Amino acid sequence: MANREVEKAQHAHPEGETLFEKIINKEIPAEFVYEDEQCVVFHDVNPQAPTHLLVVPRKPIPQLSKADDGDQDLLGHLLITARNVALGKGFDRTGFRLVINDGRHGAQSVYHLHVHILAGRQMKWPPG
Ligand code: IMP
Repeated sequence: MANREVEKAQHAHPEGETLFEKIINKEIPAEFVYEDEQCVVFHDVNPQAPTHLLVVPRKPIPQLSKADDGDQDLLGHLLITARNVALGKGFDRTGFRLVINDGRHGAQSVYHLHVHILAGRQMKWPPG
């Protein structure tokens, strides 16, 4: 399953309206576990851990490497939101992992910036 994600990432293109814009605009259904004026949080459809959430900015920044210096506050907000969601679920007791994939070698498959929150099992290092 994880390899299929990498395969998908090899062919993903940073163009047009993304799946995540459609989710934010409610054209594709997703249950938001948190939302505010800057970002939304929902479950990953293909979870890689017992808890796998995505923190997605409403602003369609395609990937971290394309963010502007002026996005500093928004980028900080995404991390604070991920922290708050993780703490709200008690993962400060057990630990959790945040991941941002960037571009082809980063195995990014959806070109709308997002922070993965992974928790509920022992993570490995190095990642694949
Ligand atoms: P990336 O590989 O870092 O770009 O992560 C994209 C993530 O989006 C993957 O973990 C996918 O499983 C997830 N994903 C793709 N389509 C959907 C969807 O419709 N709802 C929720 N998550 C999705």
